Amino acid sequence: MSFFQVNENCNGCLACVQNCPASALDYKDQGNRRKILHNMSLCARCGNCWRVCPQKAVQFHHLLSGQWQEVATMELMRCVVCGEALYTTDFGDKLAVRLERSIDPLCPAHRKSQPLKVWGKIFATPSPQDKEVTQ
Ligand code: SF4
Ligand code: SF4
Repeated sequence: MSFFQVNENCNGCLACVQNCPASALDYKDQGNRRKILHNMSLCARCGNCWRVCPQKAVQFHHLLSGQWQEVATMELMRCVVCGEALYTTDFGDKLAVRLERSIDPLCPAHRKSQPLKVWGKIFATPSPQDKEVTQ
């Protein structure tokens, strides 16, 4: 979303376009419609358009409020033991392809301890002989 926004007070006078020092504003007249255009990559964020607009139509308050804007949302893989955030599913899939093996979703701490846990489980399980002895 462009941070240059105009409200319904804009009457297309083009004062902002004519006074933009960075040529970041332009307009297009098509048929019976006028469009005001803004280019983020050219904009110097000087606020001149806001100052010269006779209609008080240029709005920067959403920019000046300094709020975070969500630009992307994706699925996250977490450690299966402790739930620590690891990486996105897409990143994990790409890594698995590059390493040519599947990756267990484990954080560094539990990646180290996992073999011990596995052995712990094996030794904790009574063998058939153990059962006979205890009976
Ligand atoms: S903030 Fe400055 S550079 Fe950006 S559009 Fe407005 S006048 Fe142009
Ligand atoms: S100066 Fe204000 S009213 Fe005029 S075109 Fe720009 S935003 Fe619209």
